[in-house]
Amino acid sequence: MNIYTMGSHYLSNINSSHNHFIVIHKNIVTVFFTLLVSLAWAQADKMIKLKLITEKESFRTMVKSDSLMAMIELKSLIPEAQYDLRYASSKNFTGQRLYPKNTHTTYLRRKPALALAKVAEDLKEKGLCIKIWDAYRPYRTTVRFWELIHDERFVANPSKGSGHNRGTAVDLTLIDLKTGKELDMPTPFDDFSAAAFHGAKNIDDRKTRNRELLRTTMEKYGFLPLETEWWHYSWPGSSAYDVLDLSFKALGSKID
Ligand SMILES: [Zn+2]
Repeated sequence: MNIYTMGSHYLSNINSSHNHFIVIHKNIVTVFFTLLVSLAWAQADKMIKLKLITEKESFRTMVKSDSLMAMIELKSLIPEAQYDLRYASSKNFTGQRLYPKNTHTTYLRRKPALALAKVAEDLKEKGLCIKIWDAYRPYRTTVRFWELIHDERFVANPSKGSGHNRGTAVDLTLIDLKTGKELDMPTPFDDFSAAAFHGAKNIDDRKTRNRELLRTTMEKYGFLPLETEWWHYSWPGSSAYDVLDLSFKALGSKID
């Protein structure tokens, strides 16, 4: 090997290791993208395959094997509370009635229902009670909201299902036990302005105190607040509960 062939041998070595590097690099990129695409696909698939309970019988079977899954009718549990289910009338942000006309009560799963009863009991000592605007919401209503509004800032994306669909979320306010009148709050129900945020500024002191009283009482019994809606509270670990698409009538029959 003379000096020239030695040089070309050296160069061809560099070229081959360089090519080798490109091939490895390409392989890594291909593997990475394949992984990314399959992950996104799996995620999309998971979202499409949201487990829905639509049959009364399969729900009964679930409750039989786990009593925590039971949906508790709130009016029998907390008769002193007011039930003004806004989606059973057109008095809501969609301007349409979405529940059957005479829906006057609603449901929560066993644990949040019992916790809410404790909230009402606690408030009683202060001469107050709760008014419920919504709790369990059949999945079909969330789909309807999405068709009407189609904006995740205001309504839940049906691909995920909401706490309301799982019977673990409640929308409520405080009332005076004697007069039945609502306490002043920063905004009306389903007002999607910044004034509805827990951190809202420039809110009247009295309204802030009322909002805070609702929050501290709900938190005391285990509920979690939602930063953007002062009236919405949810029960932790709601993903353990399936999304239900059972009508109020279907739930109305004795379940447990
Ligand atoms: Zn809500």
